[in-house]
Amino acid sequence: MTTHAPRFWRCIPQRYSLIGTHCTSCNESFFPPRNICPNCRRGAQLEECKFKGTGTVITYTTIHNATEDFDRLTPYHLAIIELDEGPRITGQIVSAPDGVKIGMRVRPVFRILGKEGERGIIYYGTKFAPIEETCCD
Ligand SMILES: [Zn+2]
Repeated sequence: MTTHAPRFWRCIPQRYSLIGTHCTSCNESFFPPRNICPNCRRGAQLEECKFKGTGTVITYTTIHNATEDFDRLTPYHLAIIELDEGPRITGQIVSAPDGVKIGMRVRPVFRILGKEGERGIIYYGTKFAPIEETCCD
């Protein structure tokens, strides 16, 4: 089990972690981060908030035919995930050999999304994988 100090997390660019905003006025959380709380408007007190990233699959779709760029990835599962903190985000489900189920618990994983030419810049993005049930035998 690895633990990270909060200060370490603050140094990670947004794309490597789920940073959103939390409104202390109405206690609602937003992802992606917002500059304005739609509930409180000018009265909002917004603060940075790091989401755990764990959540539940609300609905999903399995994509069999994608554009050429994504052909090697098909079929893949695209799900709407409700984070434990409340916001809903869309993400790809990976490492789900038995398929995706509504209500399935998921956790974030960081995967390479692509590489940029000769300079070798690698893009990472957040995807989601099922939280394995602990076997008790
Ligand atoms: Zn608010």
